[in-house]
Amino acid sequence: MTANPIEKTPVTLLGLGAMGTALARTWLAAGHPLTVWNRTPARASGLVGEGAKPAGSAAEAVAASTLVVVCLLDDTSVGEALADADLTGKDLVNLTTTTPAQARARAEWARERGARYLDGGIMAVPPMIGVPEAGGYVFYSGASELFAQHRETLAVPAGTTYVGEDAGHAALHDVALLSAMYGMFAGVHHAFALIRKEDIDPVAFAPLLVDWITAMAGPSITQTGRQLASGTLAEDVVSNLAMQVAGVPTFLATADEQGVSPELISPYFELMRRRLALGSGEEGLTGVVDLLVRGE
Ligand code: NDP
Repeated sequence: MTANPIEKTPVTLLGLGAMGTALARTWLAAGHPLTVWNRTPARASGLVGEGAKPAGSAAEAVAASTLVVVCLLDDTSVGEALADADLTGKDLVNLTTTTPAQARARAEWARERGARYLDGGIMAVPPMIGVPEAGGYVFYSGASELFAQHRETLAVPAGTTYVGEDAGHAALHDVALLSAMYGMFAGVHHAFALIRKEDIDPVAFAPLLVDWITAMAGPSITQTGRQLASGTLAEDVVSNLAMQVAGVPTFLATADEQGVSPELISPYFELMRRRLALGSGEEGLTGVVDLLVRGE
């Protein structure tokens, strides 16, 4: 039987929080039949007015479509919501933020219940959903044939980036990118703290930071990836570790002069010193990565 290209894949969506509601609107706008369920039913009313079909229970919602998308608070809420649902033959796509281990366990849990499973990590905030130019996307991992089959439908709310069969890898990519973001925020907040009590306009200072971070990020991140892959940490090093560690007292003394706690940046300096003590003065900073990884 040939599928009618005009017919849009029916979608069931569990969870109408800020993110679920944003996702729902895009599928409705794109003409996908949409069945929705939310623990607090009142949150569905706006979407019902826009054409969504409300289900009386999560189990009823799951029964309505083969493709079941879940966007709930956390892994526990997913287990609770789906406890009574018959997942046999379903394609479960879990966009709830979890740890990689939770995602893998949830994939196995779904498999035992007869469902195919894809995990997702959303790299967007709700206003970016359905706005392609905003650049938001979702990491997917798990069954590749399931991703291929539903890619078009999953691409309606945001871009899709498939990162492999391991169901935990979408969550891992998600958390890794967000962790890098928090580290970047830590450095930026330290920089603002340094100028806080001076006659320096933080509004004028901000674009200087943006330009500097942007200029540093691309080359340095790319080189770190390459060096980790090749294992040659001293190759193409522009600013070696010995020189950088020699500069650390200047950073700490400046923080002290400015009356700023070094608590956000000193752990990183400590790791640089530890790496240097291993005789890695000709390397750059990449060696810090393996100091963080705990042994087996
Ligand atoms: P909200 O807090 O707005 O909504 C949470 C949703 O989970 C609601 O539908 C809530 O139902 C439901 N819920 C909570 N506990 C249970 C439970 N025990 N059983 C059934 N349903 C439950 O969160 P968001 O919509 O913003 O986020 C949803 C997911 O998307 C999260 O995993 C989040 O990390 C992820 N995400 C969110 C982003 C954001 O910026 N908002 C960005 C990227 C990812 P009820 O209405 O009844 O409380």
